[in-house]
Amino acid sequence: MNKITCDECRHEYELTHLNTNLKEQLPNNIERYYIECPNCKAQYTTHYLDDELKKVQAEIKRLQKIYPGKVKQKNKLVRLRKKILLMHNTLKAQVENGE
Ligand SMILES: [Zn+2]
Repeated sequence: MNKITCDECRHEYELTHLNTNLKEQLPNNIERYYIECPNCKAQYTTHYLDDELKKVQAEIKRLQKIYPGKVKQKNKLVRLRKKILLMHNTLKAQVENGE
């Protein structure tokens, strides 16, 4: 199981669907997803999503459904996964550094 230790209170808890679906709406249509410590309610951001990221995510889901697809589709899936990782990091930096 995926166990998480809270940095604030050292409480150890399991990552379940109960505390992985928290979402906060930010300006510019950006959504912040976070988990919350069940003990002290400290919040930890897991990732951010914006419209562009959602589009790429939807495309990845679509390609996964038709998997195993042709080589061309597999390559595209690999490319999109790399792209989405980069986009996640860029968006995170943008939101957290206020750029
Ligand atoms: Zn805590």
